[in-house]
Amino acid sequence: MIVDFNINTLVRANIKELQPYSSARDEYTDATSKEMIFLDANENPFENGVNRYPDPQQHAVKSLLSEMKNIDPKNILLGNGSDEVLDLIFRAFCEPNFDNVITLSPTYGMYGVLANINAIENRCILLSDNFQPRVDPILKAADAQSKILFLCSPNNPSGNSFSTETVEKLLLNFKGLVVIDEAYIDFSDKKSWLEKLRLFPNLVITQTLSKAYGLAGIRLGVCYASQEIIAILNSIKPPYNVNELSQQKAVERLLKVDEVAQEIVKIKEERALLILNLKAISYIQEIYPSECNFVLVKVDNATKRYDELIVKGIVIRNRTTQPLCDNCLRLTIGTRLENNRLIQVLKEI
Ligand SMILES: *Cc1c(COP(=O)(O)O)cnc(C)c1O
Repeated sequence: MIVDFNINTLVRANIKELQPYSSARDEYTDATSKEMIFLDANENPFENGVNRYPDPQQHAVKSLLSEMKNIDPKNILLGNGSDEVLDLIFRAFCEPNFDNVITLSPTYGMYGVLANINAIENRCILLSDNFQPRVDPILKAADAQSKILFLCSPNNPSGNSFSTETVEKLLLNFKGLVVIDEAYIDFSDKKSWLEKLRLFPNLVITQTLSKAYGLAGIRLGVCYASQEIIAILNSIKPPYNVNELSQQKAVERLLKVDEVAQEIVKIKEERALLILNLKAISYIQEIYPSECNFVLVKVDNATKRYDELIVKGIVIRNRTTQPLCDNCLRLTIGTRLENNRLIQVLKEI
């Protein structure tokens, strides 16, 4: 347990003193609001389903997530995709041209891009050969200005999750925030870190409806953290950052618990089948274990194989320029039909 953690020492000074934008609607979203006349926000009064501004606190979506994940809505922040959530975290805690963050490559490209956009130094530490974080080099790279450590677990593009003991060591010893990006957690048999949120005041967990929940098009990212951290992020988020249609779609989908669960089961079955079939391709030299809805493979010549697949109408992701990913391709799990076609084409080329 971290005893001396104080979130106020990590927040940027201007954010601490910020007077957040407040909309009148923030205060009138309870049941009685139906009988009220809203003449506060210059909306068009004629009903068409979306003529009103959306709920800035997304109560309906949060209350479903709160029930599903057994967590208080005050520990939840929603964003326009995880990408917005991650950007808010940068802007709340990292002083441009002064602070730094630590990322572990190869990993999700957005951490580095967001660091660049926000003028924050990105201290990139290599994962080990089996794609696990190396605790000592990470802690050695950190200084007083290291505000965030990004752990993507399960990791994109390697597909594995990080060992519990390693993550725990980092949570206990890294002095800034530890963001665990769990975009792929629903495809893994490992438990989410959500259960341990109360044990680590510096832990921030991000999830998304873009992958397992099949809603990449609505852009809905989720952040779980202490109420103090969520309050800070809330104070800087654009007031209406999740639009009405996205909120409606999210609620609809979150209620279809069985349908989502069945799709996840199917994707995991297809993943196992694809891996089996990939073993028969002569030029595939390694198939990395996957806890995600994609598989990373090492081939003889990634760029050549990538181009050959494009000609045959199949788009995959060439990861060969990433550290530790020499000649690696990332294959998303598709439908049975799509995966069979992929295998057929891989055999032909
Ligand atoms: C796909 C992905 C996301 C999802 O981002 P959204 O903005 O929510 O669509 C987040 N993190 C990682 C590592 C991903 O691969």
